[in-house]
Amino acid sequence: MLVKKKKNPLQEIYLIEILKGLFITIKNMLFAPKVTIQYPEQRRNYSERFRGMHYIKATNGVENCTACMLCPTVCPAECIHIEAGERADKEKYPVKFEIDVLRCCFCGMCEEACPKDAIKLSTIYEMSTTHREVYDKAFLVEQRGSK
Ligand code: SF4
Ligand code: SF4
Repeated sequence: MLVKKKKNPLQEIYLIEILKGLFITIKNMLFAPKVTIQYPEQRRNYSERFRGMHYIKATNGVENCTACMLCPTVCPAECIHIEAGERADKEKYPVKFEIDVLRCCFCGMCEEACPKDAIKLSTIYEMSTTHREVYDKAFLVEQRGSK
């Protein structure tokens, strides 16, 4: 037979439990370490190894990329599109260099594979947009300055 344990009146109205809960809430409000920041006034410091927005390195205004096609080959998301061409100062260069950022998973394999150290991932993490973003060559080369 089930025997009901007798509770004292304070337990019956859960007063002690409510007070215990309130104590924990107030203690956390006043003394718990803050885990949130006032973004954008405050910003977190990210590691130099953080993989954010891409950019293409340039020397004297000329992109280091030689359109060797290694980065689109290794890219698991197939989000790099390059069209190669020739010009007087460079045997091979990317006429078109596009990255579909929505597909990119920021694995960094393009950076690893590049023999010219041309494509890099910066520590810029503010990339949210309201539309599908495709970075073109002009934008990617320009990013170097704002890194
Ligand atoms: S970071 Fe990875 S997924 Fe993004 S473009 Fe480079 S290789 Fe492709
Ligand atoms: S791997 Fe480097 S050099 Fe080759 S196409 Fe990509 S960015 Fe250009």
